[in-house]
Amino acid sequence: MKLIIVVPCYNEEEVLRETTKQLTSLVDFMINERLLSECDILYVDDGSKDNTWQIIEELQTECQYVHGLKLAHNVGHQNALWAGLEFVVDKCDAAISIDADLQDDVHTIVEMVDKFNNEQCDVVYGVRKERKTDTFFKRNTALLFYKMMLAMGVDLVYNHADYRLMSRRVIESLMKYPERNIFLRGIVPMIGFKSENVYYDRAERFAGRSKYPLNKMLNFAVDGITSFSVKPLRLITTIGFIVTILSLCASIYAIVVYFCGQAIKGWTSLLLSVWFLGGILLLCVGVVGEYIGKIYKEVKRRPRYIIEKRI
Ligand code: UDP
Ligand code: MG
Repeated sequence: MKLIIVVPCYNEEEVLRETTKQLTSLVDFMINERLLSECDILYVDDGSKDNTWQIIEELQTECQYVHGLKLAHNVGHQNALWAGLEFVVDKCDAAISIDADLQDDVHTIVEMVDKFNNEQCDVVYGVRKERKTDTFFKRNTALLFYKMMLAMGVDLVYNHADYRLMSRRVIESLMKYPERNIFLRGIVPMIGFKSENVYYDRAERFAGRSKYPLNKMLNFAVDGITSFSVKPLRLITTIGFIVTILSLCASIYAIVVYFCGQAIKGWTSLLLSVWFLGGILLLCVGVVGEYIGKIYKEVKRRPRYIIEKRI
C-alpha cells in the first residue's frame, strides 16, 4: 500500500531537519518490513515567514521521500492540512496527518499502518495517553473544551488532536464537505467507517514555539463549537421561555403588593413591563435564532450521507 504523510508547517525551520530524519528512518524501516510498498512525506508550508520553504526545498533534493507544497499565505493549521489532503487524495491508499514539531510520537505510525493493513480500519486516531507535558492550564482548558463539545452534541475522540490515519475513501468523503469553517476533529468522526484508536505519550515540542497562543486556542474552541452546533441559539429560546414564566411569577407578586397597598405609585406597571418585555424579547430573539440556525445548516451544504459499501 502507498502511504503519504502530510505535515503542515508554519515557521518550523528549527524542527524540520530533525522531523525529516525521524520520519525517513521510520519509513525506511516500514518499507524494509514490507508494511508499505511506497511512501511520501508531504510538507505543506502554510505561508511561513522564516526559512521553512528553503529548508523544504533542500530536503526535497536530499531525501527521496520528501515533497513540498507551498501555500501563498498563512491560512491556519486546519486549512493547511486540508490543502495537503486534497493534494494527495488521488495519489495514495492512505494518508497520515502529523504536526511538524515531533510532539506526537512518530513510531505510532507503525501501529496505525498495521491497523489499516490487518484490521481494515479506515480511520485510526492517535490518542494521547496522558498530558504530562502540558501545563496545568492547557490540560484543564482542553478537558473543559471536550466536555462542552460533548454537551453541544458534537462527537469528538477524547484527547485526540490532528494525528490520524485516513484511508483514501475517507479523504474522498471528507472532500465532499464543502464548508469553509473546518474543524477536522469534528468532521472525521461524523464521516463514519471503521475506526480504531492507538495510544501514545505526547512529548514536549522538539524546538521552536507553539503557534497556538491563548487567543488562537480560544478562537479555535469557539470556531469548533459554532461550526458544529446551533445549541447556543436554542439556548436563547429556552432562556426566553424561562424569563417569560418568571415574569408571570413577578406579576403575581407585584399585584399582591399593589393590593396590599404597599406599592409606590408606578412601581407595579414598571416592574411588570420590565420582566414581561424582557421575556418576550428573548423569546423573539430565540425564534429568529432558530431560523438563522436553519439557514446556517443549509448553507453548509454538507453531504447527506456517505456510502461505505456496495454489494
Ligand atoms: N501550523 C500551521 N499553520 C498555523 C499554525 C500552526 O500549519 O497557522 C502547524 C504547525 O507548524 C504545527 C501544527 O500546525 O505543525 C501544530 O501547531 P503547534 O505545534 O504550534 O500547536 P500546539 O501543539 O502547540 O497546539
Ligand atoms: Mg505542537
